[in-house]
Amino acid sequence: MQKEILAGKTALVTGASRGIGKAIALKLAEEGANVVVNYLNSQTQANFIVNEINKMEKGRAIDVKGDVTDILSIRRMARIIDDEFGGIDILVNNAGQLLRPQYWKDVTERVWEQSLKINLQGPLLCIQTFVPMMERRGGGKIVNIASMYGITGSAFVPAYTAAKAGLINLTLGLAKNLAPQINVNAIAPGNIATEMTNSAGDDFLEQIVSETPLKRLGTPEEVADAVLFLSSPMSSFITGHVLVVDGGLLLQ
Ligand code: NAP
Repeated sequence: MQKEILAGKTALVTGASRGIGKAIALKLAEEGANVVVNYLNSQTQANFIVNEINKMEKGRAIDVKGDVTDILSIRRMARIIDDEFGGIDILVNNAGQLLRPQYWKDVTERVWEQSLKINLQGPLLCIQTFVPMMERRGGGKIVNIASMYGITGSAFVPAYTAAKAGLINLTLGLAKNLAPQINVNAIAPGNIATEMTNSAGDDFLEQIVSETPLKRLGTPEEVADAVLFLSSPMSSFITGHVLVVDGGLLLQ
């Protein structure tokens, strides 16, 4: 029988209780990784995912509550992960949030600060905390979940897209800092069918689908496939890359 491509590796996926993070956790587990399913509020969903993974009888999974905007909470997660798995090899910075109001005139100081905290500072704090663990194990892979709108900008969600643009830039810089032991890449999804996208409303979704060359929203599993690629030896000579997963929308 062929060995799974991530057998023996341990991955932390932040914000893995639902949406894209859930699909990533399941995908990495299918390929044999031990998976830490991080969540903030959705404990029942996180438990469910852990059970699904453990039923696969490949890698082992645990769920860990933790807030990526809070360094003490991240350090607590790190201690639990160290005790359970002795470190990680793969960090997927997926946790993110699209707060409202976002229209440029209406963005409040709280929304601006919180948008940067969760979507940009959170990944940095996780990287600062978990890179020493990865180095102890001889290297690893970091995948930051940014957004296509972090490349194009958006007339509707500037606080969110400014943070995602920052995350792309951080990815490029850290790819240089952490080479040659650690590959650092980003994924820039377009519009993916999750609760975050559904909250944008039917009119927006219809317009987006009509403007997307592939004429549909993406699925969380399609983003997870890209994460698997960037987490595995299949991408061993790729670092500082932004992989766009958007059904061609960027071509417009
Ligand atoms: P989602 O369905 O809203 O899920 C967000 C996840 O993040 C949840 O698991 C949530 O955990 C977790 N989370 C939120 N705040 C957190 C915090 N402070 N600490 C730890 N976890 C936290 O979002 P999604 O659509 O799957 O998006 C996932 C990522 O992809 C985000 O970074 C998003 O910006 C990015 N993205 C999404 C799209 C899209 O079209 N959906 C497009 C481009 C980029 P709890 O449920 O436990 O609170």
